[in-house]
Amino acid sequence: MASKRQIFVGGVPIGGGAPVAVQTMTKTETANLGATMEQIRTVADAGADLVRVAVPREKDADALRTIVSESPIPVIADIHFNHTLALKAIDAGAHCIRLNPGNIGGRDKVAEVAVKATEAGVPMRIGVNSGSLPKHLHELERRAPVEALVAAAVEFVDLMEGLDFTDFKVSIKSTNVPNTIAANRLLAEKIPYPIHLGITEAGTKWSGALKSSVGLGTLLADGVGDTIRISLSTFHAEEEVKVAWEILKALQLRERGPVLIACPTCGRLQFDMDTVVAEIEQRLEAYTEPIEVAVLGCAVNGIGEASHADFGITGAKDEGLIFAHGKPLRKIPQAELVDTLFEEIDKSLGRGGRIQVDDSKAAEGAAWLQRIEEENAGDLTPEKLAAMEKAAAESGEDITAPGSAESGDGEPYLKPVKGRKVELGEEASPTAGRRFTRA
Ligand code: SF4
Repeated sequence: MASKRQIFVGGVPIGGGAPVAVQTMTKTETANLGATMEQIRTVADAGADLVRVAVPREKDADALRTIVSESPIPVIADIHFNHTLALKAIDAGAHCIRLNPGNIGGRDKVAEVAVKATEAGVPMRIGVNSGSLPKHLHELERRAPVEALVAAAVEFVDLMEGLDFTDFKVSIKSTNVPNTIAANRLLAEKIPYPIHLGITEAGTKWSGALKSSVGLGTLLADGVGDTIRISLSTFHAEEEVKVAWEILKALQLRERGPVLIACPTCGRLQFDMDTVVAEIEQRLEAYTEPIEVAVLGCAVNGIGEASHADFGITGAKDEGLIFAHGKPLRKIPQAELVDTLFEEIDKSLGRGGRIQVDDSKAAEGAAWLQRIEEENAGDLTPEKLAAMEKAAAESGEDITAPGSAESGDGEPYLKPVKGRKVELGEEASPTAGRRFTRA
């Protein structure tokens, strides 16, 4: 349910089925040209399609002219309370004006901005936050906050249409995730304009990313939302952009750079996977190709569920395996795994994505993998349990507790029984009492 209408912010289409645009906001003093331009370049490199800058003072509006001319991506001027700053921002060449029609000083001032924006061909983002609803909606807000947010947004839409200005997108934001979801769903049913999504004051990199992923991810999965901004309490605006991209990539709405998949680890882990995954993730940031890279904590399951990955490693105590497209490439000493993985990735990308296989090394890797799989054939790993569940579901059976399948030490562990779900008691778990090892 993408918005029916489309607007353009600079050359970036928003809504009407265009790819969901990623935006962020600079955290610098806008008039500090050096710092602001450095942050804009950083967020553009990280993948921001649009950048917003705060314009609370005359000198910020003055700085806009240079910012707009030097910015590699379109610039949105964020204006509150002072409509003359909006007029100046349009004169300075801002590609979009963000304002709250409710706090700009009345209908006439909104009209003045709308006339100038129309002349300049500049779109606007209009909207409300849960903390700044018009007074007449406060009573409704107490009883029904979602309806109050939507009512405010619809009133602003009516106001702009009454001024013959329809070149806008709309946002309603709240710190409350369920309210944000409900309000935007409702708004999308009521208006044809593009919708900007965000969770206000979401929090730190950790909690803010999660809240935004839940709120925005739910809406985007429904098809609601045409541009997103992740609000994080960090000076590093590029972190907001990275989170936005992870959400869009997870929903397969857009593609950008590599996708890393990694097992959650368990008691079979035999190397320091935390560090290895972190290093791989960091090194992958230098790549723009949409390759999928898998990291498995052990070779007990073979390549298994990572067989669709373009590249991967599976580690063990002293050695590990590099694989590509489900096939072993070579066995490597543990300490060289990451460097060799990236050598293989670089070589393949240099050949246009083709993999070159050294048959003897591949055979040696395959034999190593087979030996480990055979040695651990009785282990009920998370992957094997998932495969058993899948097989049982496909055959119409459910697997359940104690009875038939045997664990490695010959104890009865799982028995397929129709009509019962899997319930793994902690005591019956093959990992019960074992500690994670990183030796
Ligand atoms: S059994 Fe699975 S989850 Fe555990 S370390 Fe091996 S690959 Fe990772």
